[in-house]
Amino acid sequence: MIDDKAATHQNLRKILARPLDSETAPATTEAPFFDETPSDRAAFQIDSAYQGREALERVVQALAENKPYAMAFVDTHMLHGWNCVQTIERLWQVDPTLQVALCSLPSDPPWGTLARHLGADDRLLILKKPLNNIEVRQAASVLTAKWQMTKEAALEPSDLEALVEERIHALAEANIIVRNSPVILYRLRGVPSFPLIYISHDIATFGHDRAALLASPVWANELVAPEDQAKVDAALARILEQDAEGASIEFRLRTGDGACRWVENRYVPVRDNDGRLIEVEGIIIDITGRKTAEEKIARLAGTDALTGLANRASFIAQVRQAFAAAQHGAMPFAILFVALDDFTLINDRLGHPVGNLLLREVAERLRHAAQESDLVARVSGDTFAVLQGEMIEPANAAALAAKLQAALAAPCLLDGNDVRISASIGIRAYVPGDRGADVMLMQTDLALRRAKHEGGNRYHFHSDELDQAARDRVALADELSGAIDRGEFELRYQPEVELSSGNILGMEALARWHHPTRGLIAPGVFIPIAERDGTMAALGRWVLDQACRQMRVWRDEGVAPLMIAINLTQFELTGAQTFVRDVAEAVAKWRLAASDLEFDVTEATLARLSWARSDILPQLHELGAKIAIDDFGSSYASFEYVKAYRVNHLKIARSLIHRSTRDPESAATIRAIVTLAHSLGIGVIAQGVETEQQRALLAATNRATSAQGFRFSEAVGADRASELLRQGHIAPSATSGSEG
Ligand code: C2E
Repeated sequence: MIDDKAATHQNLRKILARPLDSETAPATTEAPFFDETPSDRAAFQIDSAYQGREALERVVQALAENKPYAMAFVDTHMLHGWNCVQTIERLWQVDPTLQVALCSLPSDPPWGTLARHLGADDRLLILKKPLNNIEVRQAASVLTAKWQMTKEAALEPSDLEALVEERIHALAEANIIVRNSPVILYRLRGVPSFPLIYISHDIATFGHDRAALLASPVWANELVAPEDQAKVDAALARILEQDAEGASIEFRLRTGDGACRWVENRYVPVRDNDGRLIEVEGIIIDITGRKTAEEKIARLAGTDALTGLANRASFIAQVRQAFAAAQHGAMPFAILFVALDDFTLINDRLGHPVGNLLLREVAERLRHAAQESDLVARVSGDTFAVLQGEMIEPANAAALAAKLQAALAAPCLLDGNDVRISASIGIRAYVPGDRGADVMLMQTDLALRRAKHEGGNRYHFHSDELDQAARDRVALADELSGAIDRGEFELRYQPEVELSSGNILGMEALARWHHPTRGLIAPGVFIPIAERDGTMAALGRWVLDQACRQMRVWRDEGVAPLMIAINLTQFELTGAQTFVRDVAEAVAKWRLAASDLEFDVTEATLARLSWARSDILPQLHELGAKIAIDDFGSSYASFEYVKAYRVNHLKIARSLIHRSTRDPESAATIRAIVTLAHSLGIGVIAQGVETEQQRALLAATNRATSAQGFRFSEAVGADRASELLRQGHIAPSATSGSEG
């Protein structure tokens, strides 16, 4: 039912949504024109649409779900949106079989006028208001029955196929029938090369010479389009199996002029009494028309007519697919519903044409703001949706929401009107263990309502905790970019100590962020944000410069360690084009040698790098800087990188050191690493040494092993680091750190 008045929907439901009973059943004398079949007694299923566009969406969705509507009651007096003629025209564009009962007023233009607009059409029945219960019911019954008949008529080709299949068995005798058949019949000998032993003359309609085909040992190559060859080969291979039955495949058949037509190929194996394959018999039917229509429907069914975006049905289908993929390990995703605040007001004030312009503009802006891997859709009148395809963490979804809001906030000039809009956004981010795509969609809707309820122009996650965490991340990311200029970063230094002597060999530079309100923030929090938000380039340069400056200070004081270690991220190794030049410049600026610097790269980062993508490490090596593999043994303990990057140090992972005193296998791994490294002339630094047992275990491996950890010193400020360097060595204090 398509009508903008709720009362009409209620009345119609009363009449149609329950089985015919004595109250509504026509007395036999009152129903002379229609035979009431038993199915008339069934209740109809009725859906309501209050505007033409909504109806179109429903019809499209029903088609997509393969549950098309039989008929629609359309009111001639809809005050909003498309008028009845526009509505019917668009419905028929997507579903030509839809039957329509037009509910008109006696004062409406006569039938002829309407017919001119719509074309005299046998899919249309005009009812005059006030509607009579019986008339309504009969219109529904008769149009549904007519729709059913139309469908059945459309099924004719498959009846024909059944007929032709029967004919196949009489093939040898009935050549005459074959020649008149509208489809192509064929027989193959049942041996693996499947020689073609018969093909009907109609193959000429595809531009092929029958005799040449029959003589060709590679007939399949001539008939089947190369793209579908594998499919056809596989079908033929299957038919050789003992219990294979008849089947059907669709493929593109090459025509004589080099074009292609879609065909359906139905075939059956013919076996002897022992089950041996003797022949394969089949028919080929041209289905190009059907395919084109299917493609068109799929295209229409998936697209929102006004904006050209994906529509609700195809959005839901994509979310379901993303869900299934995420469950199988694909990248997690997020769903965002974006509803325009006060769209109805704008629509009412400026009129529908401007409203439509606005919706198109919004669609364009959202499409622009989203990434290529995101799907943007219009899911109802003023609500859009984005399926964020690549969401590493919920903060990415929050960042996208903020970006969409910013995109919509810019003023729109529409038909001379300066229109300002804002949007409320509901977000649901996939987390492992989620129950299903539909639940996620529902929860996105709840989140959207919450955003609206809280006053609009904001985004809201489905869960409060996620909401807070994601907001914090986004806020930190915003603040991070200015933090360097505001002088909120500090470098701390952690000594690297030779185990046998306690001498300080090096200092590792470790960044800290003194946040004005949150206090000290650890690098584990801000480095990943900086990497994702592009602040890493500036932060990395700042660390490099500060570390070099500090080394200069120590050198001037005559206390400089052998080297200062600087951590690198994947960004510096792949994304920072000028990194090697930055290093050379910093070294020159602070009058150091490149060999004063050591660059630490984690084993995990190296594993993510492909050879082709980073020549930064070899270039740093070339410059004279040292290279260390950080967190060595945390996952791979592979010596492959050691050779490949001409590494100077291995820094054994803290996790391995921690396990070493409890787990003999970890202790053995450490001994093996130390032995192998020393035999290759590579230094070893044990990370995170906290206890005397750990220190003693390491000291026993090799006299040259170095260590870093709270057992000696935590990362300290520049002044304290200078003091330690003046001291020159750190003796592990007798009181600290025994495990228990
Ligand atoms: P990392 O390079 O492995 O640095 C060692 C980390 O272990 C430091 O944490 C240090 O404070 C901590 N640590 C040292 N000794 C002990 C110990 O005995 N026990 C325990 N439990 N921890 C110890 P921090 O400073 O939080 O740094 C964490 C990571 O952040 C670093 O790991 C490094 O990968 C990264 N990072 C720190 N500063 C920078 C920087 O300036 N640039 C880059 N790219 N990454 C940095």
